[in-house]
Amino acid sequence: MALNIFNTLSRSVQEFVPLDPSGQRVGMYCCGPTVYDFGHIGNFRTFVFADLVRRYLEFRGFTVRHVMNITDVEDKIIRRVRETGQTLRDYTGQYEKEFFKDLGELLCLRPHDTPRATEHIAGIIALIEKLLARGVAYQTGDGSIYFSIEKYRGCGCQYGRLVKLNFEEMRAGERVSSDEYDKESLADFALWKARVPDDGAVFWPSPWGEGRPGWHIECSAMSMAILGESFDLHLGGEDLAFPHHEDEIAQSEGATGKPFAKYWMHAAHLLVEGKKMSKSLGNFFTLRDLLAKGFTGREVRQLLLSSHYRETFNFTMEGLEGARTALARLDECLAKLRELAGSTTGVPEAKLVGDFTAALDHDLNVAAGWGTVFEWVRETNRLMASGQFTAQQAAAALAAWQKIDAVFGLGAKAEAGVPPELLALLDERQAARKAKDFKRSDAIRDELKIKGWVIEDTPKGARLKRV
Ligand code: AMP
Ligand code: ZN
Repeated sequence: MALNIFNTLSRSVQEFVPLDPSGQRVGMYCCGPTVYDFGHIGNFRTFVFADLVRRYLEFRGFTVRHVMNITDVEDKIIRRVRETGQTLRDYTGQYEKEFFKDLGELLCLRPHDTPRATEHIAGIIALIEKLLARGVAYQTGDGSIYFSIEKYRGCGCQYGRLVKLNFEEMRAGERVSSDEYDKESLADFALWKARVPDDGAVFWPSPWGEGRPGWHIECSAMSMAILGESFDLHLGGEDLAFPHHEDEIAQSEGATGKPFAKYWMHAAHLLVEGKKMSKSLGNFFTLRDLLAKGFTGREVRQLLLSSHYRETFNFTMEGLEGARTALARLDECLAKLRELAGSTTGVPEAKLVGDFTAALDHDLNVAAGWGTVFEWVRETNRLMASGQFTAQQAAAALAAWQKIDAVFGLGAKAEAGVPPELLALLDERQAARKAKDFKRSDAIRDELKIKGWVIEDTPKGARLKRV
């Protein structure tokens, strides 16, 4: 069976066939973070989804080039820079650093390219010049440049490919200057914004005077600079379909006359306890908020990967506890398999890999993929308990899991997941036992238990395990 994905462009499930004539290389662009604050778990649902898409394409044998931009200049950032008095680079740099740290905690592979918008200003200007030359952009009195939807449609191009739009309500020449707007303000949008006093030191020279790019043109310029004028796959959260992605298509195809991205995939939003996340409701979580509660990035990743990307994800603390339990079950089974396999190696067991592939080939149905995995855990546990499992079979099962985990990306339960101060306590407990100071060693054991960890004495020494 071939890999099929839901393409927002055609609003249907389609076979994934890359543009590369040899069917090998895949160019994939995912709109990256706007680095004006810490990323929240909603943002990370989308980035973990992008990581899943890349990993699954690689699992299916494609050679993927994964690009994720860093939006380091747009309206919200400029507002914050003005408020804090920091330079643009200092302000965005701190959140960019934290973003990559969070991405690492969530065990996401680092995209191959992570271009910053501010490093692509020349390309952005060149793209706007093309749009002016082709007559689909125009300059206003203040030196700003806008994209003309009317002119674009007049050339036979379609605006409104990803979402349905009501052009009846649109008045020719009406303009919207903000980076974010909704369908009601369907209007010509800004490509280049002339410098205003509120921009402070954030401006660049251009053929039209000093100013800065609009948000949408940044992604058109960066994606095409790295992946070419036409590429395979464009991803983002569902909120970006309009206006951001619609504008990206119009700008790119308006400038090149060629099809932009062949497939568009959108991840549905994440809600918390059924509600939109908001600071005022107290249901707003960054990744670090969850880590501070004692959860690991691996557990959050498992949870975010547990349901289909096109379904709205309802994040709850119970769900996160459930992810912890699910991982513990899986880890326990894998540990037993490792013990049984010893140094035996094996070829991946075909059924497990085949069932998993069949599930994910259908528009990345991870829920069905997990169903297969947990069914396998149940059966494997049963066979191991009845003593019917050989070292050879255990090795084949482990090899199959390793293939699957190249997609889920959970890795082995890392000792590194144990906070260093607890590892230090564990060492102290071992030293106390050696010195026959059992009072101290018991006190440490109790202290660890309160913190949610138990000591497991194994032939290889003592380890910490979550309660
Ligand atoms: P931003 O940093 O605001 O540009 O957003 C980065 C990515 O996160 C975009 O792809 C958004 O669509 C996505 N995103 C924002 N909020 C949510 C949410 N609540 N659930 C899922 N994805 C989101
Ligand atoms: Zn974008």
